[in-house]
Amino acid sequence: MSVTISSEVLQRMLAQAAASPEAEICGLLLGGGDRIEAAEACANVATDPARAFEIDPTALFAAHRRARSGGAAVIGHYHSHPSGLPIPSPRDAAQAMGDGAIWVILGGGVARAWRSVELGGFVEEVIGCV
Ligand SMILES: [Zn+2]
Repeated sequence: MSVTISSEVLQRMLAQAAASPEAEICGLLLGGGDRIEAAEACANVATDPARAFEIDPTALFAAHRRARSGGAAVIGHYHSHPSGLPIPSPRDAAQAMGDGAIWVILGGGVARAWRSVELGGFVEEVIGCV
């Protein structure tokens, strides 16, 4: 399985992560199917942003509302691991709903994509740059 993303969108996410060495950054992935068309940076409202992320619910709600009125679908989200590897943490696994959402995780200057296919579980997706 794979997801496609434009190199420009990918570079922007990596730059956002690199610019925040102390706190996890996060945002929404918009597009359709397996294609990430845009990444929307959102505030991380977690109480401990150095070790966790929580997408600003206002931004999430607004994105879903736009999708319902014809905008791009919310197909997943991204976040960074400022001092870790771009693989799902136990905390991430606890939030995996098995809903098919794409999780892009940024760490160590690279991005890896995961899909939540079961409660608490992920499979890795190859990232195809277009
Ligand atoms: Zn994480």
